[in-house]
Amino acid sequence: MGFSLSDPSLLRGQAFINGEWVDAKSRAEFPVFNPANGEIISHVADVGEHEAQNAIEAAQISMQDWKLKSPTERSNVLQHWHDLIIEYADDLASILTLEQGKPLAEAKGEILYGASYLKWFAEEAKRIYGDILPSAQDRRSFVIKQPVGVVVAITPWNFPNAMITRKVAPALAAGCAIVLKPAPETPLSALALAELAIRAGVPAGVFNVLPCLKAEEVGEVLTASSIVKKLTFTGSTPVGKLLLRQCADTVKRTSMELGGNAPVIVFNDADIDLAVAGALASKFRNSGQTCICANRLLVQEGIYDRFLAKFTQAIKEFRLGDGFDAKTTLGPVITEKALDGIGSVVTGALDQGARLVVGGKPAESDGWFYEPTVLADVQADMDIFSKEIFGPVAPVIKFKTDAEAIAMANDTSFGLASYIYTQDISRIWQVSEALEYGMVGVNETAISSELIPFGGVKESGHGREGSKYGLDDYLETKYICMGGLNA
Ligand code: ADP
Repeated sequence: MGFSLSDPSLLRGQAFINGEWVDAKSRAEFPVFNPANGEIISHVADVGEHEAQNAIEAAQISMQDWKLKSPTERSNVLQHWHDLIIEYADDLASILTLEQGKPLAEAKGEILYGASYLKWFAEEAKRIYGDILPSAQDRRSFVIKQPVGVVVAITPWNFPNAMITRKVAPALAAGCAIVLKPAPETPLSALALAELAIRAGVPAGVFNVLPCLKAEEVGEVLTASSIVKKLTFTGSTPVGKLLLRQCADTVKRTSMELGGNAPVIVFNDADIDLAVAGALASKFRNSGQTCICANRLLVQEGIYDRFLAKFTQAIKEFRLGDGFDAKTTLGPVITEKALDGIGSVVTGALDQGARLVVGGKPAESDGWFYEPTVLADVQADMDIFSKEIFGPVAPVIKFKTDAEAIAMANDTSFGLASYIYTQDISRIWQVSEALEYGMVGVNETAISSELIPFGGVKESGHGREGSKYGLDDYLETKYICMGGLNA
């Protein structure tokens, strides 16, 4: 147990701009904490407007060459970066666990998942096709695809590696250069990726990383710039809305992967063990801190008591602890503030009449741990029903009919992931089509991979990450009309 790296040079503390490691001009730094014990891991450069401008200009200049490289050359660089991530997967996982807290095995899973986007988009870089359209005899009409331009990515702390590769890989495959602002809680994973980008041959300026504590100043510079043509953001809905407003003045392209309020609907005819296992995995992965985590368990009355009993029993098996301890199956939450927030959501639900089945309090520890918690008899008019919990707390709600379940599931401003458990083929289609969500898992909650279009509807955002659709977010469609031909 404990933290060690085979290659200590992956642990960086400076910003990465135009292929160079730089301190903030102001010399400011901010601390990065280990959520398992509350201790400071290291200090990282806290950049501001000056560095943001430099990064944008570096991206603009470097993109001129990058976009003209052959698709195969761009593909090879991405493939090389992927291979290095695989080679250093254990080191990257350790850095991730250190700053984010998730169990080491889960962190390693994220690294492999994150790398899969580099491999996928290395392949897709060679498949950016245009079109020749039907046209009159005196002309020919073509469609070509071109990179959107300089991209800014703003990413969260819950997947400090994969949320970056999901954006950077398609951007670079398309021929764009990118400026990344990682979350202040987890800058070390982003900087380790930059170190491997240099070794992979990503040209200076094509990938830049701006760590900063207070996002507002850098966020304003990045969104106001007319050089920046696209913003891709993963984070909370309120910040997403703010950034959309900031992007309006320059009419930027945007991709927004925002909050969720995922229902898991368990019908009477469900395979109960499959449903329990799926709900458990979805709810407690990353300590409940993902935007596709089960946020509401809607369980039909005929199976409710049995489901609750089995689900609660399974929860007792979790081992809370430091992610570096091999026995740990549930890590801390990201900050003390997050811990307090989860506590007040639970208290609020209990005040409004929910029944505590298990958990319900922070664990005794120096770190930021909350006990896995089940709240039964939750009602649609309680605050917890419409709130993204982002913690290891499972509210269970009883329903009677399919129509009621669909209405409850859709009764939210969010629309990212949803899940249903049933053995009835007609119900599978009827409910899947009625759910106002970007993604539906049927008898499965492990739905994400580089092969599928990840994204939401309603206030969960727009745009898709992964799959053949994921590249479109970084490409413009240009129509060329060649006229004056001899008819
Ligand atoms: P969370 O509450 O889970 O941290 P946020 O939406 O606040 O989610 O953060 C997601 C990302 O957005 C982080 O990188 C954060 O620093 C960044 N962010 C937050 N506020 C702003 C802002 N005003 N401008 C630019 N980026 C921001």
